[in-house]
Amino acid sequence: LLLVALRPLFFFLLPIPLPLLSLQIFINNEWHESTSGKKFPTYNPSTLEKICDIEEGDKPDVDNAVEAAKAAFQRGSPWRQMDAPSRGRLLHKLADLLERDRVILATLETMDTGKPFLQAYFIDLEGCIRTLRYYAGWADKIQGRTIPVDENFVCFTRHEPMGVCGAITPWNFPLLMLVWKMAPALCCGNTLVVKPAEQTPLTALYIGSLIKEVGFPPGVVNIVPGYGPTAGAAISTHDSIDKIAFTGSTKVGKLIKEAASKSNLKRVTLELGGKNPCIVCADADLDLAVECAHQGVFFNQGQCCTAASRVFVEEQIYPEFVKRSVEFAKKRLVGDPFDARTEQGPQVTQFDKILELIESGKKEGAKLECGGLAIEDRGLFIKPTVFSEVTDNMRIAKEEIFGPVQPIMKFKNIEEVIRRANSTEYGLTAAVFTKNLDRALTLASALQSGTVWINCYNALYAQAPFGGFKMSGNGRELGEYALAEYTEVKTVTIKLSQKSP
Ligand code: ADP
Repeated sequence: LLLVALRPLFFFLLPIPLPLLSLQIFINNEWHESTSGKKFPTYNPSTLEKICDIEEGDKPDVDNAVEAAKAAFQRGSPWRQMDAPSRGRLLHKLADLLERDRVILATLETMDTGKPFLQAYFIDLEGCIRTLRYYAGWADKIQGRTIPVDENFVCFTRHEPMGVCGAITPWNFPLLMLVWKMAPALCCGNTLVVKPAEQTPLTALYIGSLIKEVGFPPGVVNIVPGYGPTAGAAISTHDSIDKIAFTGSTKVGKLIKEAASKSNLKRVTLELGGKNPCIVCADADLDLAVECAHQGVFFNQGQCCTAASRVFVEEQIYPEFVKRSVEFAKKRLVGDPFDARTEQGPQVTQFDKILELIESGKKEGAKLECGGLAIEDRGLFIKPTVFSEVTDNMRIAKEEIFGPVQPIMKFKNIEEVIRRANSTEYGLTAAVFTKNLDRALTLASALQSGTVWINCYNALYAQAPFGGFKMSGNGRELGEYALAEYTEVKTVTIKLSQKSP
C-alpha cells in the first residue's frame, strides 16, 4: 500500500529536465561533442518515444579518452600520488552521491530500460551503493606477501594497478554492471575508459557528473557513449588499454578476446551468457522453489545472464510444480514501469528474437501453458510465458532466451539431472532446491557453474565472487577475487649480504 501511495511521486519525477544533463562524451572531467559530429538517439522502451540524443563516440573519441586516462595514470600524477585511504574516501563519497541522487538515477534507469522503478531503486541502486562501499573499504587493504625464498634472498610481492582499464557494459543492468567494474578498478588505483551500451547510456553519463563532483582527478574516469563495432571495438583493439572488462553476449565476448590477442594482449575479464539449470528435487519446499524459479527467470523481464531458463523438476512433483508456476506467471503484472504495482516492463531489445524462440517452442512440441505472445498494441511488452513438457533438444532448452519465458523439464534421478544440467556450453549459475543436505552438497560440487544457489536464487552480494565456468566467461567480478583482475603482481627480490639467522 505504501508503494502504491508513492506512485504519484514517480509521475511527478517523470519529466526530468534532461536538457539540463550533459549528454555528451565525458573526458578529463569535461563534456565534449563527438569528433565526427554524429549523435545517436536513446529510446524509452515503454513508450517507444525518443528520450534524447547523445554524442556518438568513435575511435578518435576513444583515443582522446585513452590519452586522458594514460596521463592520469602517469607516475607522479595526482591520482598516482594519492594515498590508498584517500582513494577509498573518494569511492565512499561517490556512494554518498548515489544515495543522494538515488531517485534520479533509478528514474533514468527506468526510462532507458523499462525496468520497474521500484526494482531500479531497491535492487540496482542498492547493489551499486553497496559495491562502491565494499571496494572503498578494500582500497587500503590490498597487500602482497613476503615469501621465504632460498639462500640469502628476501622476496616480497606488490599488487600494483594495471593501468588504463576499458569497461564495456550491457543494457540489462546498465549502472550496476558499470559499478561492478568501476569500483574495483578505482579501488586498485587504475584509470578507466567506459563505453556504456548504446541502448541505455543515460545513467553512465550521469555518473560522469558525479565523478567530477566527488573530485576524482581529471582523466581517472572517462565515458565514451557509442556503438559496439565502433567505439567498443576501438577500446578492445587499443594498444594503450591494459585491461578490458566486458559484460554482454558470448558472441561479442569472443570478439573482445580476439581483439585483445590481436592487439596488445590486454588482460580480459568476460561475464557472458548463461543457460542456467534450476533443479527442484521432490523433497524441496515447493512454495519456495516455485517462487524462486519464477523470480529467477522472470526478474528484469527475463533479461538476466543468471536467468533460470532450464527448470528441471523431479517427476513426482512435476504436475504440481507446473500448475503453481503457471498460476504465478498468470498473476504477474505487466505494464507501466513507473506504476508501483508493476512487476514486468517491456523488453529493451531482442523482442523479435524472443518471439521467434517462443514460436520454436510451440513448433518443436513443448506445451504452451500460458503467455506465448506479445501484448497487443503495447510496443515491446511480452506476456509471461511458461512451457511444460520441454525436452533437452528443443531450442528453448538450449539457447539463451533473454526474455520472460520459463521452460520446465522433468527428471527422474540425480545422476541424470547432473549430466543434463552440465550438458551445455555455458556455466554461469545453477540453483538447487532440496531439504536433503547430502543431495545439496553433491549437486553443488557436481554442477559446472561459477555459482550454485541452494534454496535461493539471484543471491548476489558485493563480498562474493561472480563469474562463469566454460563459455560463460573468464575471471570473476565482485569480492576479493575481483582485486586480482585489476592488479598486476610484481615480485621484488633482494639479495642480502648474509643469510638471515
Ligand atoms: P546483446 O547482444 O545482448 O545486445 P552485446 O554483447 O551485443 O549484447 O552488447 C554488450 C556491449 O558490447 C554493448 O556495450 C555493445 O555496444 C558492446 N559491443 C557490441 N559489439 C561490440 C564489438 N564488436 N566490440 C566491442 N564491443 C561491442
